[in-house]
Amino acid sequence: MESSDRLLVIDDQQELCDYMVEVAHGLGFETQAVTHAQAFREAYLQFNPTVVVLDLQMPNVDGIELLRYLGSQRSRAQVLVASGMDQRVLHTADQVGQSLGLNMLGALQKPFMLSDLESVLQKAKQQRSALAEADLQRALNNHELLVYYQPKARLIEGQWKIEGVEALARWHHPQFGFIPPPEFIDLAEATGQIRLLTEQIIEQCFQQIAQWIAAGHSLQMSINLSARLLNDRQFPDYLTSLAAQYAVPAQMITFEVTETAVMADPDASMDVLTRIRLKNFGLSIDDFGTGYASLKQLYQMPFSELKVDMSFVRDVCQRPEARIMVETMVMLAHKLGMTACAEGVETPAVLEFLKRAGCDHVQGYLVGRPMPSQELLPAVAAWNGQLTKNHAA
Ligand code: C2E
Ligand code: CA
Ligand code: CA
Repeated sequence: MESSDRLLVIDDQQELCDYMVEVAHGLGFETQAVTHAQAFREAYLQFNPTVVVLDLQMPNVDGIELLRYLGSQRSRAQVLVASGMDQRVLHTADQVGQSLGLNMLGALQKPFMLSDLESVLQKAKQQRSALAEADLQRALNNHELLVYYQPKARLIEGQWKIEGVEALARWHHPQFGFIPPPEFIDLAEATGQIRLLTEQIIEQCFQQIAQWIAAGHSLQMSINLSARLLNDRQFPDYLTSLAAQYAVPAQMITFEVTETAVMADPDASMDVLTRIRLKNFGLSIDDFGTGYASLKQLYQMPFSELKVDMSFVRDVCQRPEARIMVETMVMLAHKLGMTACAEGVETPAVLEFLKRAGCDHVQGYLVGRPMPSQELLPAVAAWNGQLTKNHAA
């Protein structure tokens, strides 16, 4: 994680840009200001801002469109919307940003006072610097990191039955509340705490599966691995010893790595991934279609599952291109002897499409959101119970 605070502002009024830049400078930000959308996208990619201030109303550009752009980039920047429109519009924009997974900092109604701008930028800085190494270390020491489980359903005889979960790390910061995983994972990677963090998550996962097995529920579990662990040659042995310690069969666990992670160092990754696979764990290539893996890497690496990125899945009902991408990725997975999982399924129409496309597994808010372990079994029972009823009917 880069340590400087970087502010990017877009506003069609040059004077306002200048004003915000001056204020932000005074607070120690590096700054860039732009007045139109194309320059915004370029500046965003080059400057990698930690805070974005976005004017909602500009001639020729729709602020919401820029929010969507930030969402599509999976931006981790804190986003502040500004507008002369009434509070309701600002509130709606804030909601849209949140639903896109953006880190919304709030809204600034124009005309605003110097003190309003200063205090919101101060807040942005505070939130960010609070995510410092020491804070994460304290969280790790206190075991503040939890695992949430998102249901994963498999297509069996024409019905989607929940047979597994994906484990997703959660950090509820005592002061700042929910912190998005990519933020603290990046931090842990940058500070060398990722091994400890991953061990805490994986140990909770093994403990949980062992508990479920003891209660008669054998759910498959997928666990995300950071790129940084793919060149740690001891890591596969650590995994086998955990599986033995908790008496969990390796076949019940799948490790997910992103395409980008694999590409960081393909040779080292190949070694570690192959050994994980040889120990009978499943291996999944996550966010497929968004990274830079070549088809060659895909067929050389020992993956057992391909996860179609949600950016394609979400659009299958609107865009023929998205349908073609998803169908092709499912087919590619099958031809290479892998199963295909689609993530981000939010509507019945998408689910129906995936059935026709022959996708093996699905995940998404439609089937279930990530939830704490105590909510999972009831949610699974409710979903799967419904199926049998339909079936019997
Ligand atoms: P991912 O592995 O691609 O996980 C899927 C993300 O999509 C999760 O976000 C999940 O909450 C969200 N999601 C699931 N279904 C839907 C849906 O229907 N619609 C939408 N809009 N979103 C959906 P989350 O939990 O915020 O995690 C973000 C990323 O952080 C993960 O992406 C993963 O790359 C990383 N991550 C999470 N936990 C861990 C972990 O324990 N270790 C590592 N290394 N990375 C983790
Ligand atoms: Ca994943
Ligand atoms: Ca994914």
